[in-house]
Amino acid sequence: MADPSGFCAGVESAVKSLAWLVALNPPPVVCVHAVVHNEDVVTRFEALGVEFVARPEDVPTGAAVLLSAHGSPPDVTQRAAHAHVVVDAACPLVSKVHRELRARSEAGDTIIYVGHRGHDEAEGALAHVGTAAHVVERPSDVDALPLGDDRPVALLAQTTIAMSEWADIAERVRERFSSTWTPPRDDICFATTNRQTAGRALAHECEVVIVVGSATSSNTAALVDSARSAGAAEVHRVSGVDDLPVVTADRIGIVAGASTPAVTIDAVVRAVGPASIRTLRAVDESEYFPLAPGVRRQIEAAIAAGVVSPALIAAYRDDRHVSADALVALVERSSVLPYQHLAGLR
Ligand code: SF4
Repeated sequence: MADPSGFCAGVESAVKSLAWLVALNPPPVVCVHAVVHNEDVVTRFEALGVEFVARPEDVPTGAAVLLSAHGSPPDVTQRAAHAHVVVDAACPLVSKVHRELRARSEAGDTIIYVGHRGHDEAEGALAHVGTAAHVVERPSDVDALPLGDDRPVALLAQTTIAMSEWADIAERVRERFSSTWTPPRDDICFATTNRQTAGRALAHECEVVIVVGSATSSNTAALVDSARSAGAAEVHRVSGVDDLPVVTADRIGIVAGASTPAVTIDAVVRAVGPASIRTLRAVDESEYFPLAPGVRRQIEAAIAAGVVSPALIAAYRDDRHVSADALVALVERSSVLPYQHLAGLR
């Protein structure tokens, strides 16, 4: 088992924020796009009554809305203004890229964005600079850019791409353009980098590597590439146990993308049925992102109104140490949720 693996701090925070919105607001609670790129997470929230919509205009009037972890275009809050409450659960590291995009564009740089066309994160990010950005997916795209080589460029990236992808493209950009600005810290986030490091370590030790994560998850796709380029003889991406192929090997490595929940990983491990399990810790990861501010305000108000159960208050006070899986399970098990208490009091 790779460590780190599975949910990152940004996903933990977004999933917990949505669980709290379910607890605090009458249905429908609505999420614009998948809260994170994982079908099991979406299905679990659908069972709690959450509706997922493609556009803020599709949110029913008066609903509570969560904007997903992978970041939204700048006008989304305005387009969802008819909602009762709008909480932006964008990961702080995605928001950092949005700020860089706006600042470099305002400084007059031509933006070169390394990312995947059509991916939710890339679409949300590029909307912050309108048509001013050039998207590149491979080094040959850099050669084809219709720009003078003396044009000042800013090189930015989707947070979840493969490190090798970034390195090859960045090298080509620096070779071609005489003035290239890059952020002091790479846009590829710690969680993506750490899981790829762990995936490569597994690939060195195991004949077969199983990458658990959704087909729509960019960092899961990057994990597959990393394990392959590190030399694993066989790499299989699976969304869950239903996709699991029959594998026969002495050592099977398992690593999961940043949006894969622990319950899905555990089910895959049980299905593989190893004789023993060893954890391969590649990097220590202790990052923590607090709940989205809009959710914290709602929780504090509900606690002050006396409608939150002791178990939920304890989970809120110890948020850093309570996993998203555990909080969602607590909401699932609650016979009466805070919003129902509130309705009773009125
Ligand atoms: Fe944030 Fe990185 Fe996780 Fe995306 S993968 S939510 S950028 S920490």
